[in-house]
Amino acid sequence: MKTNLRTRLALTIAAVSLALIAFISLLSSYFINQQFKLYMTRQQDTSIREIIDNLSAQYDESTRTWNAEFVHTIGMYALYDGYIIKVYDQSGQTVWDAETWDMSACIQLKEDITHVMMTKYPQSNGSFTSEDRIIQRGATTIGSVNLTYFGPYFYRDNDFEFLRQLSDALLIVASFSLLISILVGFFVAKRISRPILSAIDATALIARGDYDIRIQESSPIAEVDQLIESVNHLADSLDQQESLKKQLTSDVAHELRTPLTTLQTFLEAMLEGVWEPTAERLQSCQDEVARITNLVKDLENLATVENGTLKLEKSMTDMVGLVGQSVNALQMQVAQKNMTIEIRGTCDPIYVDRNRIGQVVINLLTNAIKYTPENGKIIVELRQTEDISILNVIDNGSGIPQEELPLIFERFYRADKSRNRETGGSGIGLTIAKSIVEAHAGTIEVQSVVDQGSTFTVKLPR
Ligand code: ADP
Repeated sequence: MKTNLRTRLALTIAAVSLALIAFISLLSSYFINQQFKLYMTRQQDTSIREIIDNLSAQYDESTRTWNAEFVHTIGMYALYDGYIIKVYDQSGQTVWDAETWDMSACIQLKEDITHVMMTKYPQSNGSFTSEDRIIQRGATTIGSVNLTYFGPYFYRDNDFEFLRQLSDALLIVASFSLLISILVGFFVAKRISRPILSAIDATALIARGDYDIRIQESSPIAEVDQLIESVNHLADSLDQQESLKKQLTSDVAHELRTPLTTLQTFLEAMLEGVWEPTAERLQSCQDEVARITNLVKDLENLATVENGTLKLEKSMTDMVGLVGQSVNALQMQVAQKNMTIEIRGTCDPIYVDRNRIGQVVINLLTNAIKYTPENGKIIVELRQTEDISILNVIDNGSGIPQEELPLIFERFYRADKSRNRETGGSGIGLTIAKSIVEAHAGTIEVQSVVDQGSTFTVKLPR
């Protein structure tokens, strides 16, 4: 049967407390009884010694007589305490005998004590015993006493009453402890389970698509806190993905709308005969189609690198050769703008996906060419440290405003919107570059000063 977390926790805590309290109570009750027995046995010794000492004080050495009256009082007190005594003088003559004095009281005492001990404390295994002790004054023996009592110890009614009160107190303490631990158990169970229940509620809402939900509660338990953090993080990422998805759709629509509208206007004008379909106008149409085709290609690329289907085909790649090839491929654009590209430094071959890293280099170089005015200069620098290879693409072009630096790697982000229309960028190049570099466990960074130029740095593990 499934019980809920809170009940299960509370019941477990209560059960453990119950077992623990029962165990402690039994143990304390056992020890108290044991100690009491020991105390009573010692007490018996003390009583006997007191009787003998008191009797010894009743002997007058000068007259060699006993103070009969006081001996009688001592005997009666002893009887009252449970000791039947017979006092003898030096010659063995009886000075005082409890049984002679009050036989029925002695019989009554024996019966009472035996009855009480046998009914209330049968495990004591005691019985009435008799012993003789000498009475001394200094070193001289002045007489003897015969003591009859229930040994090795006996309890009177008030002793049993004391023990009973003690066990009652123990029971009260145990009940209180149990009550308190049940209350604390419920409280603790509630405290522990509440954040977990919130997490469950939150995940149910997230599953229904409510990504705004965040768990505010925190827990003193590290693992529960981690759970809450994970759920909040999950909601965050889903929320982000959801808005990225919406953003992407509207961005794509926006990107497509302009060339399509241009194309439609041109074609309509030509179909209606407003415009002659000259080669120049047809070329404009083709440019727009090329723009759309490029965008679709970029989107396709973005989709592969971003949705995790990007499979890296790694091989040992000579970076110097790769950079040389990329520069060659862009030779025409470089020549058109009368620019120079210099390759500096070198680095050892690294194990990467040659085509993908080539794409990163091309993207960075294309940007450098695009955003650097005529006669500009681009430097590609290769370096390495013990565990990373570093590629810098440095240009002396337009630069990027400081506040836009963190954004340029985002999809469709273009720093200078109006100029970009001319340069024909879609704002996806750096996003693709970043995804590829990160798939290689590398990083890509940028430093830039407006009107002075930019430096893009790619670091790849060796
Ligand atoms: P685009 O296709 O627009 O070039 P990217 O993702 O490659 O898209 O770049 C994003 C934006 O970053 C660009 O629109 C541009 O504003 C800026 N940018 C990228 N590289 C450079 C550079 N070398 N110099 C100046 N600005 C740059």
